[in-house]
Order: sequence, then structure tokens, then C-alpha cells
Amino acid sequence: MKKSYIIDVDCANCANKMELAAKKTPGVKDAVVNFMALKMSVEFEDGADPKAVMQDVLKACKKVEDDCEIYL
Ligand SMILES: [Zn+2]
Repeated sequence: MKKSYIIDVDCANCANKMELAAKKTPGVKDAVVNFMALKMSVEFEDGADPKAVMQDVLKACKKVEDDCEIYL
């Protein structure tokens, strides 16, 4: 399952950090951040609950870049 989220982040470097943090989150198969469009596409593992997983993704992203936001 794949979902797309609107994000807020100040630069391409931080967008990249968010992408890496999202990719490492359990339940996430793959994540791609598009800084120009301010969007994050997340592919979830089979059986993962996107809502629960995205809470962890948000936490992980805030840890690497406290100024970022994901609109869930
Ligand atoms: Zn930045």
C-alpha cells in the first residue's frame, strides 16, 4: 500500500534526512520525499497499519529535524 502526505521542511538537506528516517521506521517498505513538491510518498509493508506507522515516522523525522512537519 502506498500513501502520499504533505510535508513542511525548510531545505532539501532536511528533506533528505526525513526520507532516511522514514525509510528506517518499522512498517515502511520505502519512502520518497519530494522537496520541490513538499510531499512524502510512503510504501507500507504488507499488514502494516499506515496510521500507526506514520506516527512513528513523524516521531523519527522530528528527531532528526525538529522543524519539520508531516500533515497526517
Ligand atoms: Zn534544513
